[in-house]
Amino acid sequence: MSERLFLLFVVPFFRLSAFLLVFACAMTFGAATAAPPPATVPVKAVKVAPHTWYVEGMRGVPSRQNQGFTSNAGFVVTPAGVVVFDALGTPPLGDALLKAIRSVTRQPVRRVIVSHFHADHFYGLQAFKRIGAEVWADRRVEAYLQSDAPRARLRERKSSLAPWVDDTLQIVVPDRYLDGDTQFELGGLHFSIARIGPAHTAEDITLAVREDAVMFVGDLIFTGRVPFVGDADSKAWLAAIDKVLLARPRVLVPGHGSASRNAGADLTLTRDYLVFLRHIMADAVRDFVPFEEVFKNTDWSRFSQLPAFDAANRINAYGTYLLLEKESLGPK
Ligand SMILES: [Zn+2]
Repeated sequence: MSERLFLLFVVPFFRLSAFLLVFACAMTFGAATAAPPPATVPVKAVKVAPHTWYVEGMRGVPSRQNQGFTSNAGFVVTPAGVVVFDALGTPPLGDALLKAIRSVTRQPVRRVIVSHFHADHFYGLQAFKRIGAEVWADRRVEAYLQSDAPRARLRERKSSLAPWVDDTLQIVVPDRYLDGDTQFELGGLHFSIARIGPAHTAEDITLAVREDAVMFVGDLIFTGRVPFVGDADSKAWLAAIDKVLLARPRVLVPGHGSASRNAGADLTLTRDYLVFLRHIMADAVRDFVPFEEVFKNTDWSRFSQLPAFDAANRINAYGTYLLLEKESLGPK
């Protein structure tokens, strides 16, 4: 190739390639570092006991309208730092939770205890990792994180909760896995973590604060809406609810819905719904009634006016039908 030809064609080609490469890098870099917009839904700290606050998510299932703010989180302020329970459902909501904590105290956040690894409770964790908080969860989360489920859920949330969930979301792995009930003291307050799973998930844990008589129960209880049951073990779940009733907390903070000062009454909705589902589906399985038929013929009016009924009831009913089938085949 002559020198002239080289200068005419090959050099511009390399220049163009180099330009395209820089441009592509800039695009990739830009995408990786751009943050999703801040949450604009109101994430306000509500005081429920001398050292304890919570933020209450909106009713219904995660959507663009509510920006994924459908679950609760809480925090306990001690003279030696803050303990957080759950981290909300998107990175911007995690930032908003941190801001709500900062509206109450300048104490450092020591640790975040995660009730269970459903996206609406842990996608906000990276805000807390960034400031050096430790993340604690039950050992059973490990199996979930090793499965394909977290990636599948992330794909779904990137589409259903864009732009608040995007490529910048990191699945935060716990710093410490708990192998059973765990107690600790911080700043003179006494905390008890109880392993109550499998119930709503395999890895459910609750957090009780002795001096405040407060108990955070995660999704063991949904106040004011139909719970998400899916393929949960409802028999173990009912046993776990009874365990919480025995602890007699003064204030109960559920994973969804308002905090309750009347744990007995508020445990009832979740309990009644689970008992109802199990009762209907047990009869159907015993009489060999196909799922579609029992689902269509059941009178759901007792629960159908509740928020999240349309989104959750069918999948709950189907999960319970399969569970009861399995139970009927199991050891008597
Ligand atoms: Zn959940």
